[in-house]
Parts: sequence; C-alpha cells; structure tokens
Amino acid sequence: MKFEFRPYRRAFRQPLQTSQGMWAIREGIILRLSNAQGQTSYGEIAPIPWFGSETLAAALNFCHQLSGQINSATIAAIPANLPACQFGFESALENLVGPVSPPPAIAQSLLLPSGNAALDAWKPFWEEGYRTFKWKIGVTELPRELEICKALSLDLPPGAKLRLDANGGLTPQQTIAWLEACRAFPIEFLEQPLPPTDFATMLDLSERYPTPIALDESIASLEQLRTCYNQGWRSIFVIKPAILGSPGNLRTFCQTHPIDAVFSSALETEIGRQAGLRLAAKLGNPDRAVGYGTSHWFQDSGVEDFDRLWQSL
Ligand code: MG
Repeated sequence: MKFEFRPYRRAFRQPLQTSQGMWAIREGIILRLSNAQGQTSYGEIAPIPWFGSETLAAALNFCHQLSGQINSATIAAIPANLPACQFGFESALENLVGPVSPPPAIAQSLLLPSGNAALDAWKPFWEEGYRTFKWKIGVTELPRELEICKALSLDLPPGAKLRLDANGGLTPQQTIAWLEACRAFPIEFLEQPLPPTDFATMLDLSERYPTPIALDESIASLEQLRTCYNQGWRSIFVIKPAILGSPGNLRTFCQTHPIDAVFSSALETEIGRQAGLRLAAKLGNPDRAVGYGTSHWFQDSGVEDFDRLWQSL
C-alpha cells in the first residue's frame, strides 16, 4: 500500500482550560492509504502526550521511517508505545478493506466552557437537542466551583444530565467535598477526580458514594484499562479510542468484559471522530451519551469531506 501523511494544526476558538493547563492548538497527523485498485482511505493520529500517549514528534518519526509504503503486517506490529499511531493506521486500514458506513447517530455530550461561562453556554445547545453536558472542574477555587455547579444544575431543565471532569486535578479532600455536595444535586458522574497514582482512593470512594466515578486519565492505554479492571474497577470507564491503541484489541476486550464504557473525543478532526464513533456505537453503553460534542471548539468544524480536509493541509 502507498502511504502518505500530512501534519495538521487546528487552533481552538478559545483555549480549552483544564486543571492541567491551557490548550490552544491541537496538532496531529492525517494519513492516507491507497491500494493498487486505486482505493484510498484516511486515518488520524491525534496524540495527547500529557495523557500518556506518544508525542507528535514520535508519531512523525514513525511515519517518516516508513518511506511511503506500508502493509497490514507492519500495521499489526506497531508497538504499544505508539498507541495513537496504532489507532490511526488500523482504522485507515479497516476503512480501506471494508465498505465504511457513516457512524450512526448517537446522543452526544456537550463540552461546556470552564468557570462561570458554563452558566449561559448550555442554552443554545439545549435548543439544538443536546441533553448531556460536561463541565471541567478543578480549574478555579472549590467553593466558587461548587456554587457555579449548583446554579448550573438548578438551571438545567429536567431531562438534562451533567457530568463533571476534574482531569485528575483534585485532592482526596476536595473529591469528598464534591461527592458530598453531589448528594444535593444529581450528577451523572464525576470523572477522574484524582491522578492515576491515586487509584486505590478512587476505588474506595466509588464504593462509598452514590455519585458514580469515572476513570479517564487512568485508562489512557488498553494495558491500563485492563489493569484497572483486574484491580476491581466496575464503575464507569471513559475511553478515548484515538489514544488507547489498536481498535481491534479494544473490540476484543469490550466484547469479553462487560464494562460501562463512555466513548470520548480526543479533540480530533472528523476523520478520527468518525472512526471513534463507529467503535462507540458497537462497544459503548447505549444509555450514556458519547463524549464527542466537541466540534464547536474549532473554527473549521464540520468538514465532513475527507478529500477536502486532506487537500487543505
Ligand atoms: Mg476526561
């Protein structure tokens, strides 16, 4: 197969603020495979190094050393320390060999801006049909965030769901404060309150409070997902397929372990997004919205013509 790749840079409309800092530009790689029959397909490598995936430089290095050709054996042999590459190449190969249907329509969770801005931001999206909203916490002081969160949950119409994501930025005391506060206003789940090193505390808290805790940063790779499952995690798993690794291995794991999985965006382009949504439709918990309501964070959202996207790079 012929293999080409083009790096991309996409600016966020406004930098995304998380407890881990500001994110202003999303960088990644679009790859294109072509076979002797003249068929082509696309894949996306969208690393998030601070989540534990390879860096963009490592992914570019891997692409460069292939010198324009690749076969399915090479794709199957991509090492586990290049999980975003595994995802990009394997999904491109799947798109090349099989007829690709567009991902089915699934309910999306909408990522709100952090802080006070969330209080008004949800309204137009509610009108558009969104019913699940996600808000980043651990960004400003705890009492202020608790206040905003309470106001937000009172404002949201019946039928709305709110999830909170701390990106591992809370202390155990702050996590308990959130879980206590959430007794008074319903939250769908509290995502990654503590860093992955605090797994035991999260496991303990997940068994003591009615508000479910979800793991995200803790399960950035399939190996970590397997480890957390084996250590007894039975609450929610937030899966970012774009950085988790081989889609085939993920399918095998989910089909043999009945986990409560919420599939989620790595803020990739439409190419990685559609590949992720196809997995979500097959493997995710159908009662939970998927975390792919992120297109509005980019200027160039909604480019669904992959050839056009490729030409623009
Ligand atoms: Mg998260």
